[in-house]
Amino acid sequence: MTPARRGKPPRHFADLSPAERADAVTELGEKPFRAKQLATHYFAHLSADAAEMTDLPKATRDHLVADLFPPLLRPIRTLEADAGTTVKTLWSLYDGVKVESVLMRYPGRSTLCVSSQAGCGMACPFCATGQQGLTRNLSTAEIVEQVRHAARALQRGEIAGGPGRLTNVVFMGMGEPLANYRTVLEAVRRFVAPAPDGLGLSARNVTVSTVGLVPAIDKLAATGIPVTLALSLHAPDDELRSELVPINTRWTVDEALDAARRYFEATGRRVSIEYALIKDMNDHAWRADLLGKKLTDRGRGWVHVNPIPLNPTPGSIWTASDPAVEAEFVARLRAHGIPTTVRDTRGSEIDGACGQLAAEDR
Ligand code: SAH
Repeated sequence: MTPARRGKPPRHFADLSPAERADAVTELGEKPFRAKQLATHYFAHLSADAAEMTDLPKATRDHLVADLFPPLLRPIRTLEADAGTTVKTLWSLYDGVKVESVLMRYPGRSTLCVSSQAGCGMACPFCATGQQGLTRNLSTAEIVEQVRHAARALQRGEIAGGPGRLTNVVFMGMGEPLANYRTVLEAVRRFVAPAPDGLGLSARNVTVSTVGLVPAIDKLAATGIPVTLALSLHAPDDELRSELVPINTRWTVDEALDAARRYFEATGRRVSIEYALIKDMNDHAWRADLLGKKLTDRGRGWVHVNPIPLNPTPGSIWTASDPAVEAEFVARLRAHGIPTTVRDTRGSEIDGACGQLAAEDR
């Protein structure tokens, strides 16, 4: 067998802007208003199934769907935790590449953690995805489809807790979203466009998490879409951060924090700082103080910190900080006036928590 070529995923309706959809439908010999009908089925009813599109003539919908809705994601396996309110899905893409997404249902909101790349090129040593290297970027539609599937499962009552709505999307699955910038931005546009042009999510409920690719943070700010930015900091000093987040050798702690502050100024959105607490590595009280100082030096009320107890990854020598050390770290940040909330470790027993997504087909 010849090895799979690393081509592009087939074009899909969700890749296209509203104007491009009308063009695509016209090119297929149909009237442009059919694009709006398809958008209503896809983004409002969360359907890509011709059989459900009964307001279009059968021949029309069959050929439009065959052309514009190629199946992009095939579920390989789902794992559940928390009585079915946490669901991790392993997807196979058109070329056999695997990615994962994780749905987390809470009282009053449901969050999907999506992948933006298969693997990741950022090589953070404490992250399972970072150990894999980058396989390829996902397409816009491959990202949007992760969300559509989750939103549909909730809508149809397939997730424990009865019918519900997907409210939040976080780019905290596999990959570095800002290393796949244009594609991710287009996906964000589909998420926040009001139905039927998009899924109608609130921009503030979409979080883009980054290792700190400074030019891309500034570009994102300039789009004027007020998504929430999360910066994976993990250390307040360059010496340690360069070890934990290798891209720090390109953009330093101060440069990343300055970009985060500019993001706040441009969007008014409070930035999240993510900080995986690793025992005896980055959890020292002096590092909490240094972080508190660096954040307050840049102003007040613009940032909060999310310490994340380190989730175990295969082969890693590191473990989470002791609870007392974690408590001290949090207390120090709060003493600096920094709102600080420890992130829950939802999904860790199904390897679905932060940093555990490796998409192995076990
Ligand atoms: N590449 C992006 C998004 C993916 S990860 C980024 O780095 O921000 C989402 C968060 O999980 C990041 O803050 C990441 O640093 C963190 N993370 C990675 N591995 C982890 C682990 N083993 N335990 C806890 N958090 C981890």
